Amino acid sequence: MTTRSFVALLALALSASAIHAETTAPCPGNADALGTARILAVDAATAPRVGRKHFRDTLALAAKEVVLTFDDGPEPGSSARVLDALKRECVRASFFLLGRHALAHPELARRALAEGHTVAHHTFAHPLLDRMPVAAAEAEIDRGFAAVDTALYGRSERVPRTPFFRFPGFASSPALLERLQQRAVVVFGADLWASDWNPMSPAQQLHLTLGRVEANRGGIVLFHDTKRQTAAMLPDFLQALRLRGYKVVHVVPAQR
Ligand SMILES: [Zn+2]
Repeated sequence: MTTRSFVALLALALSASAIHAETTAPCPGNADALGTARILAVDAATAPRVGRKHFRDTLALAAKEVVLTFDDGPEPGSSARVLDALKRECVRASFFLLGRHALAHPELARRALAEGHTVAHHTFAHPLLDRMPVAAAEAEIDRGFAAVDTALYGRSERVPRTPFFRFPGFASSPALLERLQQRAVVVFGADLWASDWNPMSPAQQLHLTLGRVEANRGGIVLFHDTKRQTAAMLPDFLQALRLRGYKVVHVVPAQR
């Protein structure tokens, strides 16, 4: 081998290891962590509505990639346990907060943000927006945006810092979807959900959710961090994903 080709090979090896380090950064204190495999920037111009439970399209995920999402928090107790489980595995998720809960527990909202999660929006008080006049529904959405951003950043603007929104109960309407798209807000549905609004044991919750992940080969998974059964099974769920070869994708807003 010539010196030149050796140097070229060395450079290749170094760049490959740099890529490896970026995608599988070591997780402090946990050599067997699931980790976060990659970051996916999402914007309303190319992905205005995602999640095949309700929409035609979903995120550009490969087979066995999952996006973990949690609705309705923050809630003392369960949300902190969820954050603890994610932190232990160096997994980054997305939280769709209720404005009233963010104002009641801003420290939990800020903890999620500080630990690198995407912190997004789910209205102020969780009404079913398709049953309200459009103007009232949009005011409710805006009140949620303002409350969450005030809890997180101490101030809010008309466009939320993270323009991701999920309808309570998936109760969207064509008029509201149109308004949100005009405002460049991405509407998240889900590809599968944990049905954790139904009371069940953590073991049942784990079994049900893993089965759905396997049946769908990944996708956007919807949980509620307000549910103790979800918080209780999450450590086992994350390790099961790792053992079955699933990868976590962290969705973030595209740079504007
Ligand atoms: Zn909800």
